[in-house]
Amino acid sequence: MQKVLTIAGSDSGGGAGIQADIKTCQALGVYSASVITALTAQNTREITAVAPVERAMIRAQLDAVFNDIHIDVVKTGMLANKGTIQLVVNRLRAYEVENLVVDPVITSTSGTVLLTEEGLDCLRTELLPLASVLTPNIDEAALLLGESPTFDIKWMKQAAKRLQRFGPQIVVVKGGHLEGSEAVDVVYDGTTFTMLQSSRIHTSSTHGTGCTFAAAVAASLAKGMVYKEALQTAKTFTHTAIAHAFPIGTGKGPLNHYA
Ligand code: PLP
Repeated sequence: MQKVLTIAGSDSGGGAGIQADIKTCQALGVYSASVITALTAQNTREITAVAPVERAMIRAQLDAVFNDIHIDVVKTGMLANKGTIQLVVNRLRAYEVENLVVDPVITSTSGTVLLTEEGLDCLRTELLPLASVLTPNIDEAALLLGESPTFDIKWMKQAAKRLQRFGPQIVVVKGGHLEGSEAVDVVYDGTTFTMLQSSRIHTSSTHGTGCTFAAAVAASLAKGMVYKEALQTAKTFTHTAIAHAFPIGTGKGPLNHYA
């Protein structure tokens, strides 16, 4: 059985974060271990409280997992602050992790800050050099680059190229927030661009889309897929999960990971 470790925040509503990661891995037939970096109290409408987990406890979780379980791919999501990122980088280096998917979680759709300013700097300079795949949406790409976004493919290509210089092998700038009938993601591998395309689904059930996509990439890489196949599998999985979302709560509902 292939194994993914997700290092991320908990969503009490079950739609994003660690919970989305575990469900995605399960649906794709991959085992998942989980290190929780922060607790969030949230539902489909809002995040009402955030509590970062104490650093010693995060370290204890990481060491417990790595000292016993062979992990094929690590995925990071919400890392909350600089101290946690430095710790995670230190442990990823110590355990010689080679396959790392970084979902740069910065703010929630509802507007809550999930990574501090200092944390953003640290993510850019210390975590990105270790990444195999980086999966920002357009807003996250702009924040990582310190510029304003433009919602078109030309800007996404430039952003992917410039983000790749921070160190990740492959950058996927996700176009879920583009206008138009297609949701196009731009992939850059250091030499060529490719596009991941799907039709746009008009729904408010999109909570946890970013987490789900990145976890599906991690699970697919763990299964031994080459990166192009892994990205296409993740795109299809996420599209299907949005298409089959069932209504939960009164806000932005979660995806259907079992579709
Ligand atoms: N909560 C946690 C713990 C997350 O990791 C994320 C996103 O990655 C979110 C909330 C935000 O999800 P969304 O913006 O899809 O609502």
